[in-house]
Amino acid sequence: MEIKNIEVIELEMPFSRGVEKKGNVGFLNWGKLDFCLIKVETDDGFIGWGDAFSFQCRRSVAEAVKHMIAPRVIGRNAGDIVQINHELQQELHLFGRYGITMFAISGLDIALWDIAGKRAGVPLYKLLGGSTIRSIPAYASLFRYEDCDLVADRVRHAMDLGYESIKLHEINIPEVHAAREAAGHSVPLMVDVNCPWTPEEAKSMALAFKAYDILWLEEPINPPENFQALSKLRTETEMAIAAGENACTSFEFKKMMEANAIDYAQPSVTKVGGITEFRKIATLCEVYGVQLMPHSPYFGPGFLATLHLSQAIPNSGMIERIFIEPETNLYGNSTYDPVNGAFGAPGGNGLGLEPDTDVLKTYRV
Ligand SMILES: [Mg+2]
Repeated sequence: MEIKNIEVIELEMPFSRGVEKKGNVGFLNWGKLDFCLIKVETDDGFIGWGDAFSFQCRRSVAEAVKHMIAPRVIGRNAGDIVQINHELQQELHLFGRYGITMFAISGLDIALWDIAGKRAGVPLYKLLGGSTIRSIPAYASLFRYEDCDLVADRVRHAMDLGYESIKLHEINIPEVHAAREAAGHSVPLMVDVNCPWTPEEAKSMALAFKAYDILWLEEPINPPENFQALSKLRTETEMAIAAGENACTSFEFKKMMEANAIDYAQPSVTKVGGITEFRKIATLCEVYGVQLMPHSPYFGPGFLATLHLSQAIPNSGMIERIFIEPETNLYGNSTYDPVNGAFGAPGGNGLGLEPDTDVLKTYRV
């Protein structure tokens, strides 16, 4: 069960936002989906699939996997997942404990867990301590439209699809107002602003958003690691705060929790250090009394890994389903369509699904 080969498969896939709008395409000028898939093969014939965070950094992450990760793990026992994760983090610490290096480690870790499930002959959630598939409620994570009519239209569409909670990526009051009008008063609305404000600006916006009964305000302050400012904002506005998609490793989450900076912790399995590190963060959430709320705007192994983790972790929060439609489903099926606003983990061994080879061929860069 030695790791025999590691192949990096980069994909670019167009997606639809579900609405036509000329000009501004929203935050980060995000126009296509990047995938940095990691295919790990063992000498006894097992294949595992991983997913390293790669939105707008795909090439850098791919190079990190090829040149910093692969040479260190070829020939290792694929079952030494936690040990390999620990060693990679130690050996690569000088390149930074956040960013490209950790994204690459995360991708490998997910692939090794996929292999472990396949070798054990069970779906990953069983290996992680779960027993039966349960429905995990999802929330629709809308794009940023910067247009009140489009926001209202998308909110109604999400409700029609069965979502019972909806997250906006709007940063202005009129769009949030339009969303609340469209949603009515019983649908939880969250607002994710992606770190635009100073602490003072964040305070005035948080107080303004309170009129719309927001379940959480996500990443209001720049830089994201200003945990003291988040903590002060929480206290002064009594607005619930979510953050964590821009944090890596359990140590960063521990600092966030010790600073009383968050109500909702949002580890991202393709960024934090994979399934191995995600589980440590879930434990911290339990110890510190913080609600886990995974960040999972993915359409590959990262989304599947989040589903399996959520099956196995008590009180695992809602699944984030980014509200865009990729041109094709990587698995050639309806994995990303919610049933009554919820998702279950696939029942196959390991991550439970294998990427469609035709899709890989069509979208490979
Ligand atoms: Mg976010």
